[in-house]
Amino acid sequence: MPSLNIQRNDRVQVIAGSDRGKQGRVLRVIPESSKVLVEHVRIVKKNVRPNPQKNIKGGIAEQEAPIHVSNVMLVCPNCGPTRIGHKFEGDKKVRVCRKCDQTIENKKK
Ligand SMILES: [Zn+2]
Repeated sequence: MPSLNIQRNDRVQVIAGSDRGKQGRVLRVIPESSKVLVEHVRIVKKNVRPNPQKNIKGGIAEQEAPIHVSNVMLVCPNCGPTRIGHKFEGDKKVRVCRKCDQTIENKKK
């Protein structure tokens, strides 16, 4: 399984598609298809059928749809959207901003 540079809770900017320029937090990473779910990005409307047993009202729900990781860039706290490099801190591999060399924390919990 390929490991992705983007991780859950990262801040990313969309660089392609109709949501280009939008920023959001990564809600979910789907390594199998190299896709990510980004908060408030690629919102799709979904019809929801009422289900009184689960107390769900019918209507239209809005939901994020996954987008490919190649369509997003990680946002560096210093310089904005950036490419990611890697370096070793001791024996730990960390992600760094290619522009300013800042370590980009892994906020995944
Ligand atoms: Zn930077």
